[in-house]
Amino acid sequence: MHRRLIAPGALAASLLLAIPASAADFSPGAPGIGDPYYPASGNGGYDVSHYDLRLKYQPKTDLLEGTATINARTTQDLSRFNLDFGLKVSEVRVNGKKAKFAKTGDQELEITPPSGLVKGTAITVVVRYAGKPSELKINGYNAWHRTPDGGVAAQEPEAAVWWFPSNDHPLDKATYDVSVSVPDGTQAISNGVLQSQSSKLGWTRYNWRSNKPQASYLTTLAVGKFDITTDKTESGLPVLNAYSKDLGDNAGSARASIERTTEVAEWLETLYGKYPFNALGGYVPNVKSSYALETQTRPFYSPAAFANGSNASIVVHELAHQWYGDSVSVDGWKDIWVNEGFARYSQWLWSEKEGEGSAQELADYVYAQHPADDAFWTVKPGDPGPDNQFDIAVYDRGALALQALRNEVGDDTFFAILKGWPQKHAYGNAKVNDFVKYAEKVSGKPLAELFDTWLYQPSRPDAPAAKQARVARSAAASAPAAPKSWKEIAATNGVHEHGGKDRHGH
Ligand SMILES: [Zn+2]
Repeated sequence: MHRRLIAPGALAASLLLAIPASAADFSPGAPGIGDPYYPASGNGGYDVSHYDLRLKYQPKTDLLEGTATINARTTQDLSRFNLDFGLKVSEVRVNGKKAKFAKTGDQELEITPPSGLVKGTAITVVVRYAGKPSELKINGYNAWHRTPDGGVAAQEPEAAVWWFPSNDHPLDKATYDVSVSVPDGTQAISNGVLQSQSSKLGWTRYNWRSNKPQASYLTTLAVGKFDITTDKTESGLPVLNAYSKDLGDNAGSARASIERTTEVAEWLETLYGKYPFNALGGYVPNVKSSYALETQTRPFYSPAAFANGSNASIVVHELAHQWYGDSVSVDGWKDIWVNEGFARYSQWLWSEKEGEGSAQELADYVYAQHPADDAFWTVKPGDPGPDNQFDIAVYDRGALALQALRNEVGDDTFFAILKGWPQKHAYGNAKVNDFVKYAEKVSGKPLAELFDTWLYQPSRPDAPAAKQARVARSAAASAPAAPKSWKEIAATNGVHEHGGKDRHGH
């Protein structure tokens, strides 16, 4: 704050105002939001409400030029603050005034406005930048997919630093307008609704809007040559799917899977309540990876996911995340079970509905697949550690925990819990223990021990009560046979293959 002389007329009025903290109280915002799994992720001192990204991308060179306008509110008296970002920045303005900036650490953009920012005030930050995302490596890792006709940002837990500055952690969700200019004949895909598109002097601009809180890692960009299908659901929700023109033999199976998005979403609504966002869809770019990601309103699918034919189960997984992961997000990355345990269990429920094996049969099969000395049982889905955040145990043991809950409380209560949770925490964040408490409240049963056994003990739990008879029976004969849906579900196990281990070096 600048001390200045106050004109007598203004004095009386100024005394009525809250007295701002003295200059000495202004301090830097933390360079991380406080997540022990990823200490550099996110930042402290402010909360973002909206990102406006105005971008231009040239597929031939991978050059991305952008202006990010960020609306935020300060949560402390700030002398400076950080954004997470990796590309080269040319100018930063805070509330219209030029600010000093410096790159520190691997992914920090440290911004010092000309004067301190008072706690609780709205601020607007403008960042101008340019760079080639494919050339940006952080700890030797690059999350950007360079394709023959463009580029794609879709990765977990971090993707944003490759293409826009942000408070890069699910705790600080915001709405988005993403406007992208690309050469005519090329498309730009992002989240939410395509508000408009227009062409001028050889460039086409696509204006996308995602109008509900969205985590930075769930914000996606795909530039390339796509075939696009559009539709509306019976309830009026716009559906937009995009397929690279370059999918080769996977083109048919990709469409045969993703064109079932509306059907799958309507089925999930019967389980989890009304779909939480303003648009539906999916996209398949010509990337070399094999995973899929629940990018909000419009999941990303690698073509390799459809190499063995169609796979509706993977669509079930990514759309289930729209409730479990996107609307209700992790509080910290240790809470990953709140996403993956439920997305995997949704695949089991789809199998049950399709008559390809009940959730109990899948649970029996998974349990029998892993003998007591299998390392599978040493991973704790409730707090797996950053190295095991996307371990198969988080998915399969995570789903076993839900089957154990179902057996304990019965179907009526179990499905009431599954439907109630996404409403209770809609558009927010939640911890594993919040779910435990919620399940106890709805069921009226003490469940801490059950969840401790299935989510936190580094050893194989005893077979869940409801299936002991079955296990005793099958032990006499042989291990349970694989349910029909097993291959299709197992084919999604690479669903979140990602660079986490290399990237974070734990
Ligand atoms: Zn998942």
